[in-house]
Amino acid sequence: MNQFQYVRATKPQGAIDAVAKDPTAKFIAGGTNLVDLMKRGIMTPQKLVDINRLPLAKIERQDKGLRLGALALNSAVANDALVRQHQPLLALALNAGASPQLRNMATVGGNMLQRTRCSYFYDLTMPCNKREPGSGCGALEGINRMHAIFGASDKCIAVHPSDMSVALVALDATVLVSGPKGDRRIAFADFHRLPGDTPEKDTNLEAGELITAVDIPDGPFTKHVHYQKVRERASYAFALVSTAAALDLDGNTIKAARLAMGGVAHKPWRLTAAEQSLVGQPATEASFRRAAEVAMQGAKAFKHNAYKLKLGPNTIVQALRTAAAA
Ligand code: SF4
Repeated sequence: MNQFQYVRATKPQGAIDAVAKDPTAKFIAGGTNLVDLMKRGIMTPQKLVDINRLPLAKIERQDKGLRLGALALNSAVANDALVRQHQPLLALALNAGASPQLRNMATVGGNMLQRTRCSYFYDLTMPCNKREPGSGCGALEGINRMHAIFGASDKCIAVHPSDMSVALVALDATVLVSGPKGDRRIAFADFHRLPGDTPEKDTNLEAGELITAVDIPDGPFTKHVHYQKVRERASYAFALVSTAAALDLDGNTIKAARLAMGGVAHKPWRLTAAEQSLVGQPATEASFRRAAEVAMQGAKAFKHNAYKLKLGPNTIVQALRTAAAA
């Protein structure tokens, strides 16, 4: 591991100043991804600013929703009574991610900022535009069975690994950030980026900006929810494909729906057209199949991931079926 300087921040502004002044500096909280990346020499910050002592770990009720502090642990959020009562989809998605040990270290902000698990990104002997812009993409002509079927570019076809983020984009969350230019709010759907020509940028955060909280508005999705994750072993594995599904039912009629997928794009992939196709329809297999067809429009496979074109719609249908029955 490269040598680096370590400083501990006690106030948000101090942390922001320390990172804004030094383009080689990074915030660190749980470190469950960043430390791995540093050990392998994939990320080489010259300075780590430890933000664990900042007062950003509360989970609290706001006027019209829940606020999750950026430093709230994944396990604390998943087990929180308010979260389970008002946003059970989020608790399901969190518990589908990682392992209990990792959920006890990882924070809300860190979960959102975790980097792709594309194996070429982690292999310093291979080209990777995300790790080293302009070097090429090893996955395009390589083994790409884990890779994207939506929104990829000729520069990068990686997927975002977070389960929590799939639920948060479905639930219309908003990210609160503070930075050198002040505070701002970013719709969760706009927080992560597609790769385009700049796959090295995972998010729309600007230099020195610190995630302080995530707001989730109240909604009717407190009962009929499900997070369906398909992976290669029963736990501690990233999604091949996942779906967050939430339904608001009046009898058997769908009043509103929320759907998003993971493991299919460079960002958590919201399925708004498929949601619209469900509104006013009966909660039946036929409606779910139609929504899944709508959801998959525009999907494009690479050499080794064509299975996702079948697995994707089946995962959506299973998520909706289970949510409706919940
Ligand atoms: Fe790198 Fe993206 Fe290509 Fe993977 S898919 S090798 S992360 S550029």
